[in-house]
Amino acid sequence: MRLSQYFLPVLKETPADATIASHQLMLRAGMIKQNSAGIYSWLPLGLKVLRKIETIVREEQNRAGAVEMLMPTIQSADLWKETGRYDAYGPEMLRIMDRHDREMLFGPTNEDMITDIFRSYVRSYKDLPKLLYHIQWKFRDERRPRFGVMRGREFLMKDTYSFDIDEASARLSYYKMFVAYLNTFARLGIKAIPVKADPGPIGGDLTHEFVILAETGESEVFCHKDLLEMAPPGEVDFSGDLSEHVDKRRALYAATDETHDEEEFKAIPADKQMTARGIEVGHIFYFGDKYTAPMGAKVMGPDGKEHVVQGGSYGIGVSRLVGAIIEASHDENGCIWPKSVAPFGVGIINLKSGDEEADAACESLYSALEAAGCDPLYDDTKDRGGVKFGRMDLIGLPYQVTVGPRGLKNGVVEVKIRATGMKKELSPNAAIVFLQ
Ligand code: ATP
Ligand code: MG
Ligand code: MG
Ligand code: MG
Repeated sequence: MRLSQYFLPVLKETPADATIASHQLMLRAGMIKQNSAGIYSWLPLGLKVLRKIETIVREEQNRAGAVEMLMPTIQSADLWKETGRYDAYGPEMLRIMDRHDREMLFGPTNEDMITDIFRSYVRSYKDLPKLLYHIQWKFRDERRPRFGVMRGREFLMKDTYSFDIDEASARLSYYKMFVAYLNTFARLGIKAIPVKADPGPIGGDLTHEFVILAETGESEVFCHKDLLEMAPPGEVDFSGDLSEHVDKRRALYAATDETHDEEEFKAIPADKQMTARGIEVGHIFYFGDKYTAPMGAKVMGPDGKEHVVQGGSYGIGVSRLVGAIIEASHDENGCIWPKSVAPFGVGIINLKSGDEEADAACESLYSALEAAGCDPLYDDTKDRGGVKFGRMDLIGLPYQVTVGPRGLKNGVVEVKIRATGMKKELSPNAAIVFLQ
């Protein structure tokens, strides 16, 4: 992409209403524009990151055996009345009346709708287990939308729903998602810790939040330090026994302020105790027959009897992750994107646009890097060098290549690694090899 043809409305000033780094940087880097409280347009640069995260989330869901579908954003209130949630959900739900005075709502989540879909088609235990998911916009009329996309009102969520014949089998579905989440967050370049969540009236031990540690996190996290050092499971057989990956993590203490037990925490060796702030980026929950019982979702079992299906749901905050990744990875100059989600692979800075030699060198670098699949962003504008450097640092691409007349005289360009600031001079060809 040539910057002169792109749409990258960077801001010089830090917007006054943005209080945390990710919100400030997303506005300054021209990734999002607020349209009303908690509602944003995704500008081209922001959308690129959002899509990359979405793709990784999707790939890991598919790998775990979940099947993608798409449910609408607008739902009828009828299903929510069946489960009793229409009244229970409260003011976070945006309620809408259509022209025929039918009660509709903008979905804050989809348990009710997916259970209706499931009960319409599935009759036998032979069709179980089923893991279905979609990646769709949700709306929650948050009391305090803040921190940009981290707590928006309209936000993109991946939500998966599991259907199983009994609790033992539901546990296997839960473990699949547990492992898929560990792999997903690792690919996104972040360390997300599974912490014990509050099961509320449903009880049981099968609910975890995945949190990443960041000073601006809204919850307090207490955990065993070793959780941060564990490598993700990686390639696993999702049809096999996944308990080793889950059990060794659950053996280590991890809780938020909601589930914290000071005595248990103090039993950890002092040098392994860790307290930090955390951002919830995912949440998995086994809730049994909470929705399937009131909605009559039953299947015929191997015993010839009808069984109420056991369900769970598994969310990832796709749009929240854009902000959360920045919280975990930035410096005073801007974003530092992990390679897997960077909006472009490398930025090319032409220090003297209009200079024949510099232009020619940039053009050939640009096409070589495009051909190599590096997805370059070429700053071919007439702006001053300082402006170009600042903008490139701000948008945080993993690499920058600077091309100027002085270097070209010596046959070199300068490659900078954004994360470390390390710079080296290379011939244009060596730079291309290095960047691939
Ligand atoms: P929170 O505690 O932050 O309000 P939640 O527990 O209400 O989140 P869930 O119902 O568990 O959220 O939804 C699944 C995921 O969706 C969350 O883990 C989070 O990543 C994301 N999410 C929830 N609310 C928002 C929001 N207002 N803006 C952006 N992402 C959100
Ligand atoms: Mg909430
Ligand atoms: Mg929560
Ligand atoms: Mg939650």
